[in-house]
Amino acid sequence: MTDILVLENVAKRYGKIVALNVEKLGIEEGTYNVILGPSGAGKSTMLRIVAGLDYPDSGKIILGGKDITNKPAWERDIGLVFQNYALYPHFTIYDNIALPLTVKGLKKEEIRERVMQIVKVMGIEEHINKYPRQLSGGQQQRVALARAIIKQPKLLLLDEPLSNLDAKVRIELRSYLKSLQRQLNITALHVTHDQSEAMAIADNLVVLNGGAVDQVGSPKDIYENPKTVFVSTFIGMLNVVPTSAFNIKDGYDSIGFRPENAEIVDKQEPGTVEGTIKYVEYQGEETIVYLTVSENSVRIRDRQNRTFEAGKKVYIKLKRAFAFKDGKVVKTVQL
Ligand code: ADP
Repeated sequence: MTDILVLENVAKRYGKIVALNVEKLGIEEGTYNVILGPSGAGKSTMLRIVAGLDYPDSGKIILGGKDITNKPAWERDIGLVFQNYALYPHFTIYDNIALPLTVKGLKKEEIRERVMQIVKVMGIEEHINKYPRQLSGGQQQRVALARAIIKQPKLLLLDEPLSNLDAKVRIELRSYLKSLQRQLNITALHVTHDQSEAMAIADNLVVLNGGAVDQVGSPKDIYENPKTVFVSTFIGMLNVVPTSAFNIKDGYDSIGFRPENAEIVDKQEPGTVEGTIKYVEYQGEETIVYLTVSENSVRIRDRQNRTFEAGKKVYIKLKRAFAFKDGKVVKTVQL
C-alpha cells in the first residue's frame, strides 16, 4: 500500500512552545486515521498544517507524491469538515453541496448529477431544497460531509466533526462515517480528543504527545502493546503501581496493568498479593472493583457477576502487566 500523505520533519513553534514536531508520519491510502492526544498535544496544529490553513516552520508535506508544503489551502486536493458544520445559511442544502463544483466552473447538468449521486449515497435526498437551519445537527453534519467529499479529494480532514452532536447522534454518525469511508474508499484524517470515538472508528490511531507522535497503530495494537507510559495511561484504563506492590525486583520504575488483566481470588496462591476491597461499581455486564494494594489504589474488572464486599481482604493475581523504565514500556509480562 502507498502512503497518500507523508509528513517529514514537520515542526511548528509558537514562541517557545513547540506545537508540533513530527519526524515522520505516513498515512496509507484508503484508511481511516484518527489523531488522538490530550489538549495542547498539537492535533489542531497538525490538521491546520496539512489543510494549508497554517504553514510549518520547517519540514515537508507530501500529498499524492507531490510536495504541497507551500501550496495555499485552495490548491490542495483536500476536503475539510469542521465541528461547527460551517454551512452557508442562505444557501439551500443543494447549493451548499454543489458549491465546490460551482466554484470549479463545472456544467450545471454535471453538478446536478454529482450532487444527486452523493445525496443518495448519504441519505439526505429529501432535504436538498431546505435551508441548514431546518435540519438537525446530525443532518447538517452529513451535508458538510457531502460538500467535503463531492470533489473526491485525495484526503478528507475532519476536525472534531462529532463534538457538537448529542451522544446518540454522535454514535450513529461515527459508524456512518466509517461505513461511508469504506464504501467510497476515502482516506480520512480525523482529529478528536474522545477516546472511545477514536477506538471505534480508526484503522490507525496516531497518538500525539507534546507535539510529537508517540505511537501509530491499530486501536487493538495500541491498547494491548503500548510503547510508552504516556500511551498506556492515555488509551484505556491502567493501574500504575510501584514494583514493590507486586514483589517484583527487576529494576523497573513501576508497572502498569489493565483492569481486566488481574483477577480477584479468595485464597492466597503462589504469586498473589493481598488487597482490600474499597468499593464496588456494578455496571451490568461487568463490575469494577476498587481495591487497595499496599496503599496503592487499583481497579479490577470482573465479568463473572460475582458479589464483592467492601472492606474484605482478598488476593490479587496478576495476568498481564507492562514494565516501565524511563517513560517506556520495556517489557510486557505475561503471567
Ligand atoms: P490540540 O489541538 O491538541 O489541543 P493545538 O495544536 O491547538 O493542540 O496546540 C498545540 C500547542 O500550541 C499548545 O500549547 C497551544 O497553546 C499552542 N498554540 C496553538 N496555536 C497557537 C497560536 N496561534 N499561538 C500561540 N500558541 C498556539
